[in-house]
Amino acid sequence: MAPVTFFDTHCHAHFSAYKDDADIVIQETLDAGTWMILVGTQSTTSANAITVAKRFPEGILAAIGLHPNHLHVMHFDEDELSVQTRSERFDPDYYDALAADSHVIAVGECGIDLYRLPESLDRTEVLETQKEQFQLQIAFADKHNLPLIIHCRDAHDEVLAILRETIAAGGVKRRGVVHSFTGTWKEAEQYIALGFFIGFNGIITFPPRKAAPEAHEALLEAVRNVPLDRLLIETDAPYLTPIPKRGERNHPAHVRYVAERVAQLRGVTVEAVAEQTTQNAARLFLSSRSL
Ligand SMILES: [Zn+2]
Repeated sequence: MAPVTFFDTHCHAHFSAYKDDADIVIQETLDAGTWMILVGTQSTTSANAITVAKRFPEGILAAIGLHPNHLHVMHFDEDELSVQTRSERFDPDYYDALAADSHVIAVGECGIDLYRLPESLDRTEVLETQKEQFQLQIAFADKHNLPLIIHCRDAHDEVLAILRETIAAGGVKRRGVVHSFTGTWKEAEQYIALGFFIGFNGIITFPPRKAAPEAHEALLEAVRNVPLDRLLIETDAPYLTPIPKRGERNHPAHVRYVAERVAQLRGVTVEAVAEQTTQNAARLFLSSRSL
């Protein structure tokens, strides 16, 4: 196997978008020297992340958790891929059995999403359920000594409040990453102060949205300012395909385009970004292993 060059810390190469060629896509990624974490979003995709990871001798790990979008029945399009969610609740006994597998290196993705809300329910009620399910998964992560992979959309105040409160009480011991970060440097800074990593993906390669160019500039400011030893790269494949592959299904090996954009924005070499972010991923997720 090629030496580890890049580490895609968040992809879903086990999702149905790859039902015909998941193993080919994963092998291509490993051949490109890229390791990856397959991230679960509900009970079935969490179990399947482990099943797929087990088919390869190394370079592929699994995260298990329940995404806030899967707490209620919803249907939406994510990057032109249609997503149907069920109404699930986090079952610690079910996930305990999964966490026993050595491929499992994180809990997630879990968190709070106030961008996509079910139409039929009251926002306050949805937020309460999301908070409760997030706290349950934080406790689960502490029980298994695992870091968190946090999904947060339009909810940084809520997520930060929960993290601060839990950390003050001695929890969130292994900390984690705020994945697919799209906030401002001010928001990123608060997670960093708490000991978290910030994960960037193809969104940082996109042109600014005409409706909100200042939001994009604020995100790029975060990419420039996050200390390099706290920065992680990811694809979120099959979603969020980076430029120059826009329009195609995303691929975990495309994480190198994210690294290139980080390097360009910070005025450093792509090798420096690759080396540091790979070390960061190892430090956060593989602290008991060696690359
Ligand atoms: Zn994801």
